[in-house]
Amino acid sequence: MNQRYFFDNGLRFACQRCGACCTGDPGLVWVDGAEAVAIAEFMNCASVASAEFLLPRGEGFAIREHPDGRCWFYEEGCRIYALRPMQCRIYPFWLVHLRSEQSWQEAARQCPGIGQGRLYSRQEILERVALDRRLCRMADFTS
Ligand code: SF4
Repeated sequence: MNQRYFFDNGLRFACQRCGACCTGDPGLVWVDGAEAVAIAEFMNCASVASAEFLLPRGEGFAIREHPDGRCWFYEEGCRIYALRPMQCRIYPFWLVHLRSEQSWQEAARQCPGIGQGRLYSRQEILERVALDRRLCRMADFTS
């Protein structure tokens, strides 16, 4: 029998581009090697190794933050939005937010996009959670 989840009927989300998830408390945004190369090239860096905004982490890199916790690339909007990492693309459908309905409601207090826009199906949500688990393993990060 299929496991039941509080999101079996789907969850609504549409990013409002408010930047709340890119600023504030320190966090970890992780990129794999291919994402790091693409971002470094976009930023005209000679190589990934010389990119000051990338810090080796797990099987890839963490994106450096400003001292106030803001993502390195956040300046009144994301400077690399078209190339934003997979971790950002699947936000807020992270395992840490989907462990329970209460966790999702807590995430909604920070993210005004939760509850808006299109309905993501149970299957789409589970796919994102599986991806988040894989990213966390590769980043040596436990959520
Ligand atoms: S907090 Fe939510 S609505 Fe705001 S930028 Fe992040 S994902 Fe979009």
